[in-house]
Amino acid sequence: MTIQWFPGHMAKARREITEKLKLIDVVFELVDARVPLASRNPMIDEITAGKPRLLLLNKADMADPEVTKLWSDYFEQKGLPVLVINSKTGQGINRIETKAKELVKEKFDKMRAKGIVKPRAVRALILGIPNVGKSTLINRMAGKNIAVTGDKPGVTKKQQWIKVGTALELLDTPGILWPKFEDPSIGLKLAVTGAIKETLLDFSEIVLFALKYFKVHYPARLQDRYNLESIPEDPIVLFDEIGKKRGCLMSGGYIDYEKTAEIVLRDIRSEKLGRLSYERPKDFIQ
Ligand code: GDP
Repeated sequence: MTIQWFPGHMAKARREITEKLKLIDVVFELVDARVPLASRNPMIDEITAGKPRLLLLNKADMADPEVTKLWSDYFEQKGLPVLVINSKTGQGINRIETKAKELVKEKFDKMRAKGIVKPRAVRALILGIPNVGKSTLINRMAGKNIAVTGDKPGVTKKQQWIKVGTALELLDTPGILWPKFEDPSIGLKLAVTGAIKETLLDFSEIVLFALKYFKVHYPARLQDRYNLESIPEDPIVLFDEIGKKRGCLMSGGYIDYEKTAEIVLRDIRSEKLGRLSYERPKDFIQ
């Protein structure tokens, strides 16, 4: 699903989430572990202000595990609790309930002290930009397949609570937020990880962006995969070399960049280059 966000859509999304927040005790913010900053909504702190939040680094199965650990420490140091998960297989999700209970303990203790003794489940909402895995996670947590849809205009759907474990209830519709737009590299990171349709961007541009990053962080994998003796300094030359190795030539001996880009993108998506992350905390410290 690709959503084109306009100011009106953003305002509507925000209103809907504000309504949902009234019903819940804790927010599960879902991001892509490969691009945990690029896949965040720019106003998340403001939108969720006052609600305890748990950050879920999803799709960790595709991310570089060492980098995911760095991100996990980075957010924890900033006071944001984190869990590393894979919504497809369910890995890591059994810890969500315990974490959620910890996060609302203070509030629930106060309620109890005030004499609101009736125990109830912790209520949670999943929030995130499109394609980070919200529906997949809801289905995993529900333990069955339910049709998860975003709120469609004109369709009023009764909100349902999904029971998870013994002490957690999840709203069956996630909150869909818009991604960041301000920096072109964010669009490229979202395109390479499949969060936005690559047809919106130039194929070669996405791959060139990825190659620049791999050249610095995963040179050995590039050499291995494409049989390169060394990694050329210039990323365009690197692109050329890969094209040649893969036989992507047009008449006159020119490199077919489109075809080369398709091959590299397919390799990335099918994890032929291994588990990859596209940003690390230290990129943002300068
Ligand atoms: P939503 O738009 O946030 O609801 O995202 P979806 O749940 O539709 O997921 C988008 C794509 O990511 C789908 O193809 C999912 O199968 C895939 N996906 C979701 N979570 C994971 C995960 O943890 N690992 C992997 N490998 N793929 C995932």
